[in-house]
Amino acid sequence: MYDYLIVGAGLTGAIFAHEAHKRGKSVLVIDKRTHIAGNVYTEDIAGIQVHMYGPHIFHTNNKCVWDYMNQFTSFNRFTNTPVANYHGEIHSLPFNMFTFNKMWGVITPKEAHAKIEEQKHKSGITEARNLEEQAISLVGKDVYECLIKGYTEKQWSRPCKELPAFIIKRLPVRFTYDNNYFNALYQGIPINGYTAMIAKILEGVNVRLNVDFLRDRSELEGLARRIVFTGQIDSWFDYELGVLEYRTLRFETETLFDTNNYQGCAVMNYTDRETPFTRCIEHKHFYPELETASTVITHEYPSEWKAGDEPYYPVNNERNTALYESYKELAREKCPNVIFAGRLGEYKYYDMDVAVMRVLEIVSENFGEA
Ligand code: UDP
Repeated sequence: MYDYLIVGAGLTGAIFAHEAHKRGKSVLVIDKRTHIAGNVYTEDIAGIQVHMYGPHIFHTNNKCVWDYMNQFTSFNRFTNTPVANYHGEIHSLPFNMFTFNKMWGVITPKEAHAKIEEQKHKSGITEARNLEEQAISLVGKDVYECLIKGYTEKQWSRPCKELPAFIIKRLPVRFTYDNNYFNALYQGIPINGYTAMIAKILEGVNVRLNVDFLRDRSELEGLARRIVFTGQIDSWFDYELGVLEYRTLRFETETLFDTNNYQGCAVMNYTDRETPFTRCIEHKHFYPELETASTVITHEYPSEWKAGDEPYYPVNNERNTALYESYKELAREKCPNVIFAGRLGEYKYYDMDVAVMRVLEIVSENFGEA
């Protein structure tokens, strides 16, 4: 009998396991995949750490989180400066003075503000009620149409008018000539990849891979006094109140032997509606310090999610948010010994640093240290 059974060996599960183990608890971590690290999993291909479930760039403003992670890995100096490709035309991201200069020829922040105000005014927006209105208010109609509309509608497969404004608020808008995608004090990629980092977090902890909790539930549930479940909360309840929706992605990864620099940046976003993929990732550029003979690229295709597919992005619209709240209530009533945690357990679009903060909060609550 273990003190804790932790379902999922991703960032959240691994940190909970580490903290419980540190407090002298007996812990078993299981994962249905053949590897640890969940969606931050990286794999060595041709000497390059390849992000197998989409690019992950660690960034945070929180020094405690940064110091916490630095116990397990060193980070390199990578700064995310993705490039937008709109019908073959290159634009700067996030939205900043380089973007506004290319779009309108404006030079000063004052001119950029004026242009955005004019476009916002023309659109008749007073209060931003959805992603489209939020985007136009922030960056004007031209930037919205070239750099946001197509990308977002591909990514979420819904019109921008039907999407919540908060999605676009993730991206900074800057009136400086600065292409750094994140407003974060600390940023980087684990030097030896995320898998090595998670392995370090899990040091000393029992881990069993290839174990599907939902399939072998009756046997596994009895193994521990408490369970930390980082899978989809609705799957725990066999979807009895309905299915929470996600967006999923399909990755096409290839190794190119005829070049060691395919696109000149780590992330190129294809922001037009016609190109079927949203991004092309060239993994070696996450490691500016790395010299390689070849290169590995991944095209990312967003697609409709159906039960059984990998869930990547929770779709936090009204219907799903209400449904999630009902599941949370059900969890409170029916399973006091289960902690639902992480992007899937809490149905939240967490960045990695927020996921870390959140699981550390859960750890404190759980061990009565709050
Ligand atoms: N987005 C956009 N154009 C871009 C990049 C992002 O319109 O070139 C929008 C899009 O709606 C996306 C959101 O901003 O879903 C958040 O982007 P982010 O890069 O934070 O997404 P993630 O890296 O989590 O996929």
